[in-house]
Amino acid sequence: MLNSPKTIINILNLTISDLQEIFKKLKLEKYRAKQIFEWIYKKSIFDFDQMINLPAKLRTQLKENFTISVPEITNMSESKEDNSYKFLLETNDKQQIESILMVTDKRTTVCVSCMIGCPLKCKFCATGMELKFARNLKTSEIIGQILAIKQFAQEKKISEETFNVTEKITNVVFMGMGEPLLNYENVDKTLEILIDENSFGLNKKRIALSTAGIIKNLSKLINKHGIKLAISLHFPTNKLRDEYMPINQKFKIEELLAELQKINIGKRDSITIEYIMMRNINDSLKHADQLIKILKPLISKVKINLIPYNPTKFLNVEASTEEQINVFAKFLVGKGIMTTVRRSKGKKVHGACGQFALKKSN
Ligand code: SAH
Repeated sequence: MLNSPKTIINILNLTISDLQEIFKKLKLEKYRAKQIFEWIYKKSIFDFDQMINLPAKLRTQLKENFTISVPEITNMSESKEDNSYKFLLETNDKQQIESILMVTDKRTTVCVSCMIGCPLKCKFCATGMELKFARNLKTSEIIGQILAIKQFAQEKKISEETFNVTEKITNVVFMGMGEPLLNYENVDKTLEILIDENSFGLNKKRIALSTAGIIKNLSKLINKHGIKLAISLHFPTNKLRDEYMPINQKFKIEELLAELQKINIGKRDSITIEYIMMRNINDSLKHADQLIKILKPLISKVKINLIPYNPTKFLNVEASTEEQINVFAKFLVGKGIMTTVRRSKGKKVHGACGQFALKKSN
């Protein structure tokens, strides 16, 4: 008898131990789970019939119980200038998600979304302001963004010069649409799969997660996986943060910084404090001084990344001038805090921070 669609499991929602557990119940051999993971994650094969080291009978059984379903790429736009690619993908229920692929000599990074829209509604962020929050993404839809892009690259659908590099994805950042800490379970599972040797086997230090400051489970998640953390702090006072980031009304700066003390980080490692530079809003030396003061207890643990604000139509604010960003950065460095300035990637393809709002370029 055929299974009803409801009982069919998408393997991409499972860690290898989840799959092994199910195989046990189905009286299937444990090592088969490993073989299937290899096909999916190492060879980008999502069709059981192409998994030629599995016996025909097993393949039939798999088809009756499982599916391997990745979101479908519906659009890709390329920014030749900075070697980044924006992908629009569609989920099974016809929702749109976005991911970015960024290629440099040293690394190939996928920036994934973890929600459709975002409920946090930071005033400067197109994702929160422009899109209606629909739902959390499933593990299969987060990991599926990487699989879909990898397969797309392997099929040579992006330019030949970058193909060789894009074959291997070295870094994953949770900096697309949505708030990872509000999709804890699925993000947790995705991280486990990303790091597992049987699947992507990514180096945990090449995975970074960014949060707007959800404290619940923050240190638990980061310490469990040992990944890198970025905090979207952006403002040095509760007054400013309350105004631009409503989540601050729930989790105050002091609580957030206290939570950061609980994060285990190696000697040469650090937590990135992200700070968008908005002209005449948060970019004066007074703000820089306030920032230094609040970060003092964490000084050996953090570095600051200054990000020029990407203007959005919701806020009548401009980016700080390059000159002001340099003055601000110099001040911070002078106080002994490691500071970098991000030149936002993917700007041309509307994939830069806060511009995830499903624009079709081209
Ligand atoms: N919700 C998480 C993950 C999103 S990451 C978080 O807030 O950290 C996206 C990053 O882009 C965040 O640091 C966010 O604050 C930043 N961002 C949003 N809008 C922006 C804009 N208009 N200009 C520059 N950075 C922006």
